Amino acid sequence: MRKNLSLENDYKKLDECELFLLDMDGTLYLGDNVFEGAVDFIHTLEKHNKKYIYLTNNSSRSGNDYIKRLKGFGFPCERENIYTSGMATAEYLRRNCSDRYIYVVGTKPFYDEIVAAGLKAFNAAIYDSEEFDSIRVSLDEKENIPVVCVGFDTELVYRDLDLAVHFLRKDADFIAANPDWVCPMPKGEVLPDCGSICALLTASSGKEPVYIGKPNRNMVDIISKMTGVENEHICCVGDRLYTDIAVAQNAGAVSVCVLTGEADEEMISKMETKPGYTLDDIWELACIIDGSF
Ligand SMILES: [Mg+2]
Repeated sequence: MRKNLSLENDYKKLDECELFLLDMDGTLYLGDNVFEGAVDFIHTLEKHNKKYIYLTNNSSRSGNDYIKRLKGFGFPCERENIYTSGMATAEYLRRNCSDRYIYVVGTKPFYDEIVAAGLKAFNAAIYDSEEFDSIRVSLDEKENIPVVCVGFDTELVYRDLDLAVHFLRKDADFIAANPDWVCPMPKGEVLPDCGSICALLTASSGKEPVYIGKPNRNMVDIISKMTGVENEHICCVGDRLYTDIAVAQNAGAVSVCVLTGEADEEMISKMETKPGYTLDDIWELACIIDGSF
């Protein structure tokens, strides 16, 4: 074991974990390149009766998009194995704002997720249509101001922002799916992500969002309720310290940092609270769970 890069000295806490929440990019694959042993890692979990959920902060795509992508890579994946920050945001709104109108800035899959949760959602296109005329007036009244809900919107147009600022300046609640500034792309490129869109809205309105995705412990708490597994028996595995590892630490779950993505040994050595375990890659975790390490 690496000295000083892990909080734990043995694998007891890992052995006791019943559910693994798995980051994908940088943990199981990078872009379209699946890491060696990553698919076998999932089979190892299944062999030892451990549950697993692929967890993503990406709120631009639907659960079905991820099922298709993971299956294409050879990973076992059914509907119950995938959870996105979009799903968590819809669940959060359902629990806390079910009687409110929700103004959505996000992709169609993100919007559909919120509608599927039974919420009264609308977006700029609907707001600007004639059939919405009667509601428009009442939404501007103080008691009816909608909740502004923002995701990683790769279909964003100026009108979406304009209307969000309009409501936020009337003191609307501000909920956002994920705090990531950028979404990494192949060849070192990035896309402006949900955190950057929210930064623009904050600059224009003075309102700060509440983020639902990692590192907010909401994601783990909701999954714990869904699966019946206590947080202390949940293990979050990922390559990003301020999302994957931080969400585990915030939720009282076990954490494993793999060195195949963003985090390196130097970054971890500077952390005040280190990850529960720091491993070379996902295959090393498979060997530990299998007892062959
Ligand atoms: Mg990652």
